[in-house]
Amino acid sequence: MHQAVFLDRDETLIRADSLPPPPPPANPGDVVDPEQVQLLPGVQLACKRLKDAGFQLIIYSNQGGVARGAIGLRTVEAINDRLRSLLGPGILDSCYWCPFHPKGKVAQWTRPHDWQKPGPGMLISAARELDIDLSRSWAIGDRQRDIDSAIAAGLSPDRCLLIGPGTPIPDMNAAADRILNSNQPATAATMRMRALQGAPLADPRTRATVIATAGAIAERTGIPLIAVQADNESLTISLAADRLAGLGFLAELRRATNTWYSARNNGDSLWGEPAPDQRF
Ligand SMILES: [Mg+2]
Repeated sequence: MHQAVFLDRDETLIRADSLPPPPPPANPGDVVDPEQVQLLPGVQLACKRLKDAGFQLIIYSNQGGVARGAIGLRTVEAINDRLRSLLGPGILDSCYWCPFHPKGKVAQWTRPHDWQKPGPGMLISAARELDIDLSRSWAIGDRQRDIDSAIAAGLSPDRCLLIGPGTPIPDMNAAADRILNSNQPATAATMRMRALQGAPLADPRTRATVIATAGAIAERTGIPLIAVQADNESLTISLAADRLAGLGFLAELRRATNTWYSARNNGDSLWGEPAPDQRF
């Protein structure tokens, strides 16, 4: 499962309130023209830092202007496309947005809907469709409804960051700092396993299988894998984990790769006992 940062759009990533007021029936603060899309200062770098750290970046945006007849669906998509291109290729993973509003004028979109923030619907749909682990994800927004929506979806309140002037987190860069600093492993375990005999990891297939298996165990257990290094005779892995979790990880990796290796090598084991130079 993936970790995500859910991002409100207007006044979190792009200017909205400070744009010239759009003509009615749009409200001040509605972004109605792709040409008006401007990133707020620091947003591009902040998003890139989060993306580089492995987070999926997902927009969740109320667009009640659709229900009010102020903006069409294609224009919302064009504005989102403009935002994608300003952020750079591959930065945004997906955009969820809610056209519904209970007090609209366009019949099709005029009703309550759980996608409308502070409802949780957009995050819950994203989690299901994109395989997101909400318990390890974050949300950033400039309105309390952004925060309430994420909490309602099941995010931990301390992972829901209200940003903007007058808050302890003034902008996206400060939010990225908060997320990336908290993501630093509090502890790290570095462990080495030596091959029982010979140099089996000189074989590219064996080496690739061992490394892929370590990645799969990290993915399944949620234990972050900091580094994997292999020479022809030994494997060194670093985990963001305490000693107990590190030992469990190593035992599982040893068991799984021994089973795989043994089936292909006349019952021989790949690994001996863990080396005495395990460090924590
Ligand atoms: Mg906003």
